[in-house]
Amino acid sequence: AKKLGIRQHVTYQQANDDNVAYHFELLQALQHSITCNDIHIALQPQVCIKTGEVVGVEALARWTLPNGQNVPPLDFIPIAEATGLITQLGEQLFVQSCQALCALNEAGYTNLCMGVNLSAMQFEQENIVDILKQHIADANMPPGQIEVEVTESIAMQNFETIRKQLNDLRSIDIRVAIDDFGTGFSSLAYLSKLTFDRIKIDKSFIDNVTSDDGAAAIVDSIILLGQRFHMNVIAEGVETKEQAKWLSDRGCHDAQGYFYAKPMPLPELLTWLKNYQKT
Ligand code: C2E
Ligand code: CA
Ligand code: CA
Ligand code: CA
Repeated sequence: AKKLGIRQHVTYQQANDDNVAYHFELLQALQHSITCNDIHIALQPQVCIKTGEVVGVEALARWTLPNGQNVPPLDFIPIAEATGLITQLGEQLFVQSCQALCALNEAGYTNLCMGVNLSAMQFEQENIVDILKQHIADANMPPGQIEVEVTESIAMQNFETIRKQLNDLRSIDIRVAIDDFGTGFSSLAYLSKLTFDRIKIDKSFIDNVTSDDGAAAIVDSIILLGQRFHMNVIAEGVETKEQAKWLSDRGCHDAQGYFYAKPMPLPELLTWLKNYQKT
């Protein structure tokens, strides 16, 4: 296999022959970068569709190799999960997110919510709630400004444990969002047994919402479901004005996507916020 340094990046799906070697190489590099706290967050704005107001940001992991090559999260997060490294990495990213939120508050953006992705494996730590609580306290943050994002698959095993952990998070005011909603298999069963503050509609449905009746029907139903359960509903991957308009007409609260802004480092976000004009 070619070395990372000289090969073009190959995505998780494309790699075949090189798969094992590539992953082994990535794993070694990943271990090193985590040890050096060298994986950073980019922040993507979330906007209230009706008012255009920025309501929050999502923190997304970004890894740049020493040679300048970016490795997408869809390549390295699964490796971090499979090897257990996600526990340490997830905690580092959570701390960075709290610090970024602190900086945003200090810059006068005091009403933003910070969305942080958590992997199922992080919930295998019995004391995950205490760990997060401690980091929030260290950063001197009000927990109400933190929103953890979990996918549907999270409760596949250990349903009762997860339910308790999510409830404990909510009891200390941390918000909980269900991510990639609609792509799992037990959405409705979960919804009735777990309490979420927010539903994030998966991008795959938003992509076709203005062109495909099926996608439109699904998005419609999710918005109604959110209204019925008193949950905020946010659409992910909104790329066009038409999609934003469609969602707004249907009563979807918030949106996130390239139509508004791409994920960016904190300094760039601060500039973006300063220049932002409500649409
Ligand atoms: P996700 O949580 O569903 O994040 C949304 C993904 O969609 C991000 O990809 C974001 O950059 C991308 N995106 C947002 N708006 C648009 C748009 O308008 N068009 C297009 N084409 N894409 C858009 P990203 O950053 O590559 O992350 C991919 C996935 O990796 C995330 O999906 C999440 O599952 C995982 N991930 C990223 N950061 C973390 C992290 O810190 N922890 C964990 N556990 N997982 C993470
Ligand atoms: Ca997410
Ligand atoms: Ca998502
Ligand atoms: Ca996704």
